[in-house]
Amino acid sequence: MADNLAYAGIDIGGTNIKFGLVDQKGKVLFKEQRPTMADKGAEPLMHLVTNIGESLLYHAADEDLEIQWLGVGTPGAVESKTGKVIGESPNIEGWKGTVVGEILQERLNLPVYVDNDVNNVALAEHRFGAAVGYDSVVCVALGTGVGGGLIVNGKLWRGGNHSAGEIGHIVINDEGPACRCGSQGCLEAYCSSSAIMRRTRDKLAGGLTPAFENVLDGSLDNLSIRKLFNAARKGDEIALEVVNETARYLAIGLAGVVNLLNPDIVIIGGGVADGGGGFVDAVSAEIRKRAFGSAVEQLRVARASLGNNAGFIGAGLLGEAR
Ligand SMILES: [Zn+2]
Repeated sequence: MADNLAYAGIDIGGTNIKFGLVDQKGKVLFKEQRPTMADKGAEPLMHLVTNIGESLLYHAADEDLEIQWLGVGTPGAVESKTGKVIGESPNIEGWKGTVVGEILQERLNLPVYVDNDVNNVALAEHRFGAAVGYDSVVCVALGTGVGGGLIVNGKLWRGGNHSAGEIGHIVINDEGPACRCGSQGCLEAYCSSSAIMRRTRDKLAGGLTPAFENVLDGSLDNLSIRKLFNAARKGDEIALEVVNETARYLAIGLAGVVNLLNPDIVIIGGGVADGGGGFVDAVSAEIRKRAFGSAVEQLRVARASLGNNAGFIGAGLLGEAR
């Protein structure tokens, strides 16, 4: 491999597109982001992604970096041979059915690989992040949704129809709240950022506690995941209750995953995991309480380490993960 070889990746999110260049050791050489303009539809979005691909290739040429392929991540299941989005992406208008890979390949004249965004996060954490050296990895991303990615025997596990790893739609209560997937009581209906905020609002409906009064400047309208965790760090009982509840719900789902796959490590990423306040430790303790003894004996549970960059880094690695 030439020394100047670099990975180029684009991570299409519901709000922003993050993209960058990474060297062979995982060092980010260049990164940027642009708003997704998800409401404009698939065709304008493909123009934007093409433009971003061009700018990555231009940037690489300018820095004398060699790029052998371009990788792209998107929400929803992706038919990874053609790069066609086959799953629903509720945040992006008309995105399902778009053959992202073939279109970009034709326009940019180099190989393009496309996969699900959290699959890419799993690849990145496995290669350069918190899961380096582990063969079996479960990766969970907590944010607007609850996504999952699986590494089995050192390789991405895509399943029979590119839909493996949908951890967010494991049902933990068959009478629970409705989920956007059409089912009810899914993990996502308890652990997505909107679900967590809804529970917090419900508990504060009778009035703000002093800690919340302080972090929210007196108004529940200012509530965010970050502020919830701020209140938890101040020892607020309601905030701690929500955080611990969320950890417990997540662990109920993950205990099942651990029993099924017996992974070496479970990586938890996304905005909720970054809140700190002992969240990941609480999830770990609860999984250990619930899952099979031999399956947790050597299990590690850790926070993802690549943060917001993981999506585009993993996308850049897709050419090696076919
Ligand atoms: Zn669901």
